[in-house]
Amino acid sequence: RPKVMRVDAKDMGADLQQVLITKEEIDAKLAELAAKIDAEYAGKDLLIVGVLKGAVMVMADLARALSTPVTMDWMAVSSYGAGTQSSGVVRILKDLDTDIKGKHVLIVEDIIDSGLTLSWLINNLGSREPASLKVCTLLRKPDAAKVAIDVEWVGFDIPNEFVVGYGLDYAEKYRNLPFVGTLAPHVYGG
Ligand code: 5GP
Ligand code: MG
Ligand code: MG
Repeated sequence: RPKVMRVDAKDMGADLQQVLITKEEIDAKLAELAAKIDAEYAGKDLLIVGVLKGAVMVMADLARALSTPVTMDWMAVSSYGAGTQSSGVVRILKDLDTDIKGKHVLIVEDIIDSGLTLSWLINNLGSREPASLKVCTLLRKPDAAKVAIDVEWVGFDIPNEFVVGYGLDYAEKYRNLPFVGTLAPHVYGG
């Protein structure tokens, strides 16, 4: 499903192979998810927790698409190094600023790949006794799942390929692309 690339302005066009999900498709999907999330949390106080750094874009855009008043907090965990392989090791680099006990918490993720990071995070935040704990992710790779996770809201199921853009990096680059795409093999030294 090749898409027209509008990447020349950001000077990263030569590094990209294909656009998988356009900015327009992301915007439409987030509006759709926001309506469902609004319905779920009507009349409740909602804390959305973004997982740094990948979820920055989806947090910013989802939060503005919601009608529900929210508070926002951030966590940083490390599961990957600079490469594309999961280490399976999760470490807290930055914890939440707030106590989530008794709060309705929605974890906002960029992507669920093996699911190892999120599964760990659900256990960790779950042990802090929130009133409820649910997950919204923009992307999910069903073929890469190593653990089964109940995810309430999923934007797009994608093939088991390494993607960048819209918050997602390769060696800290490409996060500011407004769409999700795949990288050309030469970027990996292939
Ligand atoms: P998991 O633990 O589910 O395997 O992966 C968790 C994290 O790995 C994601 O939050 C993301 O930071 C990174 N990751 C997984 N798949 C991809 C991918 O296709 N592209 C990029 N850029 N990061 C990924
Ligand atoms: Mg993430
Ligand atoms: Mg990364």
